[in-house]
Amino acid sequence: MTHEDLNNFFGFTAQMMAAARAIETEKAYRLFNDPLASRLATGTAFAYVKEKLTEQDIAYIAVRTRFFDDFLFSPEIKAKQVVILASGLDTRAYRLPWSSDITIYELDEPQVLKSKTTILREFTPNCQHHLLGVDLTQPWSDLLLAKGFQPNLPSVWLLEGLLMYLTQTEVLRLLQTIGTLTAADSYLGLDLVNVKSIEYKPYKGYWYSGFDSPEELLTQYGWRIAQVLEPGQEGANFGRYSWVLPPRDVPDVERVFLVQARK
Ligand code: SAM
Repeated sequence: MTHEDLNNFFGFTAQMMAAARAIETEKAYRLFNDPLASRLATGTAFAYVKEKLTEQDIAYIAVRTRFFDDFLFSPEIKAKQVVILASGLDTRAYRLPWSSDITIYELDEPQVLKSKTTILREFTPNCQHHLLGVDLTQPWSDLLLAKGFQPNLPSVWLLEGLLMYLTQTEVLRLLQTIGTLTAADSYLGLDLVNVKSIEYKPYKGYWYSGFDSPEELLTQYGWRIAQVLEPGQEGANFGRYSWVLPPRDVPDVERVFLVQARK
């Protein structure tokens, strides 16, 4: 794929997530309310999600969104700086009840963020808000620091729907960079797929990295694992995800992990 194809593809994955959140928002028993999502997702993305994603895929996106919404508002988190890497068309800055002393930094490909700000120009975020158009496989921390991020103070990081699109080397480099920017009492939320999932047909050739042990991956960068859950487990179910996966020690199963960690 050329760089342009990749950008188009990445932008499309962000739109698919927005379409799935718009579909969830229409439900009477929705897990969250994302009224801006329907403005951000194109008709093509809606059609793709409805035709190609399974009920289980769509339920997973709803569960993941709610899981990380709740994570960001965990009572023990006192940090005032929130960094969302690969934020895509995430509208959390607008739809969640932040206090005005919170600063959210969103980083993603420039054209993804540009389309978001253009479409949402008449709306005001509920917090201080900085958008940084970057390629996360290249150095980006100086841009974050230039926008006022303070690495000596606690922060919260969210990497939702990102790591599988990076190679293993890029994931490790990203975690290393985050490690240099995070003080004690910082928190990290992310999702990962396992190695077996990279071979899963619909994503073959698009997903580049998988990890069988989020615990091993994150502890080497100084994080203490708070939770590793698979969708459907208590805490990652929300009465929505009824598919039951075999226990984690059963091999050859495609898995996705929802992870929360603390430094
Ligand atoms: N976190 C958002 C959500 O859950 O709706 C977006 C997830 S979407 C599946 C993947 C996002 O990763 C896209 O917005 C894409 O642009 C971004 N992305 C992937 N690789 C990237 C890179 N190298 N640099 C910046 N953003 C990247």
